[in-house]
Amino acid sequence: MRVLLIEDEPVLGQAVQEQVAADGHAVDWVARLDEADAALRAVDYGLVLLDLHLPDGRGLDLLKTLRRGGDQRPVIILTARDQISDRIEGLNAGADDYLVKPFDLNELSARVMAVSRRYAGNPNPLISSGKLKIDKAARRVWRGEEAIDLTKREWAILDLLTRRATAVISKEQMEEALYDFGSEIESNTVEVHISRLRKKLGRDAIHTVRGVGYRLGSD
Ligand code: CA
Repeated sequence: MRVLLIEDEPVLGQAVQEQVAADGHAVDWVARLDEADAALRAVDYGLVLLDLHLPDGRGLDLLKTLRRGGDQRPVIILTARDQISDRIEGLNAGADDYLVKPFDLNELSARVMAVSRRYAGNPNPLISSGKLKIDKAARRVWRGEEAIDLTKREWAILDLLTRRATAVISKEQMEEALYDFGSEIESNTVEVHISRLRKKLGRDAIHTVRGVGYRLGSD
């Protein structure tokens, strides 16, 4: 999925960006609220990581504005240890979870996955589709008894397809989830990844819905 990171501390921001990208997500990193606002208007993010103290204002105000406008996308707030009142206010303002700095990067990964699974309405990390068994928490997939190795991009596509089992995901949604502002998109890349995934997972693992997109399963 595509993640927006709003954080003005350079060292922490870079560490978080690298961790989330290593988990196979596309990450846009901004350090100011006005940049965050512009990014949120331009891209349909799957999840937002929000620092609360930013150079041009409070992250909580952004969160409140989003929720007042009916925006339900998952938001995890990043707070300092001594700011308990911020955390309470953040949760009351509609944050889905929080992490206290300094946090373990693997805990960040786990919370990002748990929050996005809950948002998709499927908190269970184990998914079956035909002969496939997918463990989203462990990021592993089996075809029958055989464990299959996927690249980061292939995993990101499978992750998207398994967020809502019956949902059709368009090529544009896949591109948006796969590529952040810093990446070049080649026109046939999604098709290439889908074709490789079908070779690994079986031809009927991913169904093409003509003119619309792709979904898991054969019919
Ligand atoms: Ca800050």
